[in-house]
Amino acid sequence: MKGTSSRAPLGHLIENNRRWAQGAVQADPAFFQRLVEQQAPKYLWIGCADSRVPANDIVGLLPGELFVHRNVANLVVHSDLNCLSVLQYAIDVLHVEHVIVCGHYGCGGIAAAARAAPLGLIDNWLRHIQDVAERHRETLAGEAHECGRADRLCELNVLEQAHNVCRTTIAQDAWRRGQSLAVHAWIYRLTDGLVQDLGFSARGTQGHAAELAAAIGRLRNRGEAG
Ligand code: ZN
Repeated sequence: MKGTSSRAPLGHLIENNRRWAQGAVQADPAFFQRLVEQQAPKYLWIGCADSRVPANDIVGLLPGELFVHRNVANLVVHSDLNCLSVLQYAIDVLHVEHVIVCGHYGCGGIAAAARAAPLGLIDNWLRHIQDVAERHRETLAGEAHECGRADRLCELNVLEQAHNVCRTTIAQDAWRRGQSLAVHAWIYRLTDGLVQDLGFSARGTQGHAAELAAAIGRLRNRGEAG
């Protein structure tokens, strides 16, 4: 096949693709036809761009079953048109029923924000994480060790970003018109591949701040107990 031999710079990836497509058709001859005809995911995943956190694989969903937005450190920034457009399309057009903000322990974006060493343009993006750290200085100070503080900041960041989803006009409008929509905060551990629900679950226009405070309280209690 022209341009796809193994001698081409990315030939091995194209070959992988051919094998994957063949395998999908062998397992289910109508696989691609069905995908073409319908995109009806029930879930929107907002996750980190980290290559070790493959959204569909983690939750065992096939193409067509999960709408995905990823950026460095899974941020939901109020003025980020990219993330907001994905959110709006997912909620208003696809009618997803769940928005999952999923962070992960060992996040390079979180670590870089904590170190605050200059890296270039991305420093402006990482400021949002530093804002989260500043807001929760007391909670973070309760962690004696640096790795404990980093883990806690990963968790706090996910909770704050899930809270940000709830505050968008998109989620608020959906709830006001009675659409079924739940927002969740999850965290993924690279070392064992397991996801943990951080206990934030918003299903309506009100009560998100209390939901956030309760989830953070549980994190603090867990830290003190451990
Ligand atoms: Zn990350």
